[in-house]
Amino acid sequence: MSSRKIRQRSGLDASPADSVVRSCHTPLHYAAATPQIAGPYVTQPAANCRRCPRLVLLRKQVRHDYPHYHAAPVHAFGPADAALLVIGMAPGLHGANASGQPFTPDDADGLLFPVLHAYGFASAPVTQSANDGLVLSDCRITNAVKCLPPDNKPVAAEINACNDFLASELARARVLLTLGGLAHKATIKALALRQADYPFGHAARFNLASGQQLIASYHCSRYNRNTRRLTPEMLANVFATARAMVDNPLPVTQSSAS
Ligand code: SF4
Repeated sequence: MSSRKIRQRSGLDASPADSVVRSCHTPLHYAAATPQIAGPYVTQPAANCRRCPRLVLLRKQVRHDYPHYHAAPVHAFGPADAALLVIGMAPGLHGANASGQPFTPDDADGLLFPVLHAYGFASAPVTQSANDGLVLSDCRITNAVKCLPPDNKPVAAEINACNDFLASELARARVLLTLGGLAHKATIKALALRQADYPFGHAARFNLASGQQLIASYHCSRYNRNTRRLTPEMLANVFATARAMVDNPLPVTQSSAS
């Protein structure tokens, strides 16, 4: 069943977010939002995080329809001290929302894990489940929004509500790689930077005042792959740059947007 059908059955409103930063002040229900510490400097949401009422309702419906699915906030995957942090948008219904691990399963013609493997960030080019033994090396993968959104479209209030969890994940990485405009804007917001200074574009790259480096890519979604908006070669070029950034840290004095 698609997330659209689930949304319709649940009576959920799915007005899409066309901007991450339009409002930081949208009213939210913060009841029972009790973060748990998952590692030094990293705060991950509790399994019962209820900040986003629409997503909580959807989780409940998905748990009913797919009792074996994870259907809870999806935490980051990979070593907490990884130099590279890859930031996606949000869990997919039959992907991370099912497995509990970002971008898993990645099907046989997926784009992400082959390129992670090719550049030494993953032990295998395919992942089928969270327990298949694949190991990330010097790479961690997360999402800007930790819960499944209806129609793969979180609204601005949900992106903002989850932003402090993302912010807590950014500090330990030297290189940030954003997948898609939504993840990119959410990352810029989490870094408390001006969106206008760091516009999204495929292969756009920035040196941040923090000493971190950021590179953006079109999202490796099935849609972008099928329309060839993002080809394997385009994604490989971005990861080749990320690999070079990881292997050649900026001098500590270099600190301007480029
Ligand atoms: S999307 Fe983030 S803030 Fe919203 S309910 Fe899920 S974990 Fe909580």
